[in-house]
Amino acid sequence: MKAPISTLPLVGPKYVQKLAKLDIKTLEDLLYHIPFRYQDFSEISKIGSFPIGETATIKGEILEFKNEYTRQGRKIQSASIYDGTGKITAVWFNQPFLARVLPPGTKLSLSGKLQWWKKQKAIYSPEYEVVTESSETIHTGRLVPVYPATAGISPKWIRSRISALLKLLPKENLNDYLPKNLNFMNLWEAVQSVHFPKSLEEAETARKRLAFDELLFIQLLNLHKKSLWQKNEPTHKLTIDKDKLQQFFHLLPFTLTSSQLRSINEILNDLSGDKPMNRLLEGDVGSGKTIVAAISAYIVYLNGFKSAIMAPTQILAQQHFETLTEIFKKTDLKVSLAGEGDIIVGTHALIHKNVKLRDVALVVIDEQHKFGVEQRTHLIHKSKKGNIAPHVLTMTATPIPRTIALTLYGELELSTLDELPKGRKKVTTWIVPPAKRNPAYAWLKDQISNFKNQIFIVCPLIEESESETLANAKAATIEFEKLKIIFKDFRIGLLHGRMKVEEKNRVLDEFRSGKIDILVTTPVVEVGVDIPNANIMLIESADRFGLASLHQLRGRIGRGDKKAYCLLFTENSNNKVLARLSALKENNSGFRLAEIDLGLRGPGEVLGTRQHGETNLKIASWQDIDLIKLSKTIALQAVANPSQFAKLHKAFAEKLISVN
Ligand code: ADP
Ligand code: MG
Repeated sequence: MKAPISTLPLVGPKYVQKLAKLDIKTLEDLLYHIPFRYQDFSEISKIGSFPIGETATIKGEILEFKNEYTRQGRKIQSASIYDGTGKITAVWFNQPFLARVLPPGTKLSLSGKLQWWKKQKAIYSPEYEVVTESSETIHTGRLVPVYPATAGISPKWIRSRISALLKLLPKENLNDYLPKNLNFMNLWEAVQSVHFPKSLEEAETARKRLAFDELLFIQLLNLHKKSLWQKNEPTHKLTIDKDKLQQFFHLLPFTLTSSQLRSINEILNDLSGDKPMNRLLEGDVGSGKTIVAAISAYIVYLNGFKSAIMAPTQILAQQHFETLTEIFKKTDLKVSLAGEGDIIVGTHALIHKNVKLRDVALVVIDEQHKFGVEQRTHLIHKSKKGNIAPHVLTMTATPIPRTIALTLYGELELSTLDELPKGRKKVTTWIVPPAKRNPAYAWLKDQISNFKNQIFIVCPLIEESESETLANAKAATIEFEKLKIIFKDFRIGLLHGRMKVEEKNRVLDEFRSGKIDILVTTPVVEVGVDIPNANIMLIESADRFGLASLHQLRGRIGRGDKKAYCLLFTENSNNKVLARLSALKENNSGFRLAEIDLGLRGPGEVLGTRQHGETNLKIASWQDIDLIKLSKTIALQAVANPSQFAKLHKAFAEKLISVN
């Protein structure tokens, strides 16, 4: 199973290369390359009764084969086929080699749609295969698997190689490792049926089985990683001074929400435990994650140790620095930007050798989905010595359903902020078509002149990336020049990630203090920027963003006392696009939007993890909620009763070896 794909007959070096592009390197990879749909050629028909316009399969013998040229210089191949009930002409285009492979006398099975051609019954570009009396068909006459294709590999080729593999594969290689009482289709059967099912129901039963296995191994891997982490000792034992903490709560300008308090309690429990914390704090944008991290860092400080907070952008690091300095101004806690302090805030630069992380007992990773796995692990490892590890708090503003979060980040404990601080207003959201652009601009001018409102104008997303791309910055600069003319009577500023740090900070400060009316920006503001005075946001080419990103962006406004508005500009009038944007109009909860987005697009795009190559489901889907839950239950049972699941553990151990 682990043998390289080149061991399969007819897979030469060229195909090895092409298959590698599909991530198919071993026989096993090919086996689990499953169809994304099936073409129904199962109806076998006689030529005599073959109804015009229907898709079906016929079987017959070639009487004659012709290569012809059209006046336009196209090559047409036509074969006359007879099955005892009638004659039909099969027509192909530009495949003159067929004359060689399909000489008269060949017995053929053909699938396709029946039409008229030059007053004869004809079948255009049919799928075909040569048959003998006993041979089984794989391209015609059945439910035919259709695979995600890649340039240079024909569907027919991949089908034939998978079929060959299924025939060669010793049954013992697919010994079932699931207990029978789970009532899943047996593994060997599932692998056969998912590729060549007898019915769509059988295909789905088979897919379910394989999807379950995929999820189960993810859950087992999570539990495995969790137990490895549990072997660590915390860097420093911490005690919780409840009185000091209460005093500190009183210094805050607001009262904490109940979900903030619940998460803080969960974190304090971890911090005072004898295993290092490894927790994910998941909360909608604006739910107040920063203060939860700050309070955790305060406990660490009271114990005489330091915390490191890593943020994905310079702007956000700067903002955390300022927010935290403000929060702690009445204490002696010192906050620094990548320097010496009780709380050290920085970007991924914190990973750099020059930044000392001595005595760091807590590592906070903000907006974790903006970092690659390596960056995160690197920072944790840097503050780790042997099996002495810091407490780790990971934060994300991509609210995904709990079941999914527990699978995707299953090695972490999970805390959720599922409410927003009191007084947050719903942002009124409009979709603005091109015809309404000028009226919208006029409305904006009025909002500034008469209501002193401040506006974000977010430029189209040109390239998706965790850091600012040149293309995004350029698009913003061009838009800025245009808007300077349209809004010539107003103060307008530009912000993009390619500007110098000091310049970025100057612009943000001017916006914050009301010296700028309109801030034109790239999508970098998506991440964490907190400017309560700005209450209007205009997003250009909103259709280019995912729902989660749009929700994040919109979360920048509606934080202050004023009524907030979000204008989604789009030139796209495609129904699907409008449906997606309408979802944003109707929904204010990031959790709900994430669910909708998961239904509309893939999870990689929703979670922003695609570019980092994190857990990508191949067979299962994040909509398989029941399967996901069951896989978790069974994984926990398997870990609790190893002897009952001995075969599964063995299979998992083999998988672990092949991954590492
Ligand atoms: P996010 O979860 O998106 O990181 P922030 O931590 O930036 O959110 O918080 C958003 C805003 O809400 C900040 O201005 C913060 O001061 C404020 N805030 C946080 N918690 C509360 C609360 N319990 N009541 C009122 N405002 C709060
Ligand atoms: Mg934040």
